[in-house]
Amino acid sequence: ARVAADAGRAEPACTADGRRIAVLLNVAAPEDLAGVDPAICDGIGLVRTEFLFEASKGLPDEDTQYAVYRRILDWAQGRPVTIRTLDAGGDKPITGLTIDGESNPFLGLRGIRLSLARPEVFRVQLRALCRAAVHGTLKVMLPMIAVPAELDRAGAMLDAEFTALGAEGIACARPPLGIMVEVPAAALRAEDFGAAFYSIGSNDLTQYTMAAARDVGAVADLNDTGNPAVLALIARTVESGRKRGVEVSLCGDAAADTRLTTALLATGLTTLSVSPIAVARLKAAIAKVRL
Ligand code: PEP
Ligand code: MG
Repeated sequence: ARVAADAGRAEPACTADGRRIAVLLNVAAPEDLAGVDPAICDGIGLVRTEFLFEASKGLPDEDTQYAVYRRILDWAQGRPVTIRTLDAGGDKPITGLTIDGESNPFLGLRGIRLSLARPEVFRVQLRALCRAAVHGTLKVMLPMIAVPAELDRAGAMLDAEFTALGAEGIACARPPLGIMVEVPAAALRAEDFGAAFYSIGSNDLTQYTMAAARDVGAVADLNDTGNPAVLALIARTVESGRKRGVEVSLCGDAAADTRLTTALLATGLTTLSVSPIAVARLKAAIAKVRL
């Protein structure tokens, strides 16, 4: 039964009127890929790396991170793999790294803000990523970007680590650097960011646009990616990507909500990223959409 199900899922996704939609995978931990046939997807759209930092053993060293990233690239067999740098803070506190007692962690030192504040931690991850990049098609993505200066500073650090590795004679490559678009300021002005690609984080983009926390049940009705204001920001980001000639994907939970598939594809999105268990249902939903 498993083989039959995988066979169906391996068909590329296409709308009823023939528009090809790329379906990528979200990975929260390497175990998510166990038993998954890479042929069911067009690549990996989001690897959340927080799992590496959660262990009580302390921060993962460069070799540990490199081995994990490389294993995921090996699994993908040349398909593009987007690994996101650490997105600690907000709903993802990490002991010893994030700040306890922030009055509003979702508006605090999280994601790229924390990585830039802790360059000694960020550098290790950037080095491991540059080393892994020689083993496949790696793209690196920064979370919680609000202003272009954050991307520029991270890009300069990536360049410096790539250069340093080369000088040490260590095999490495400089992966393209893109951004999560999940802060309304970035969605409104995406064209101002010199990113190699955009990936819309609809979980955070929705909560920041609607001022309704993603983890508060009492405001769950307001936390709606289908709200026209959120869809307008998504459409705007897609348009910015088109103008700059860079790829735009969406990797938040809304990508797997088949009630939203038509609305999301109507914004012009052609790439969606979901967890492996959601692939078959999403492809079936895409097949019914007429653009
Ligand atoms: C998002 O915000 O939509 C997203 C994909 O990232 P995370 O859920 O890890 O914050
Ligand atoms: Mg997010």
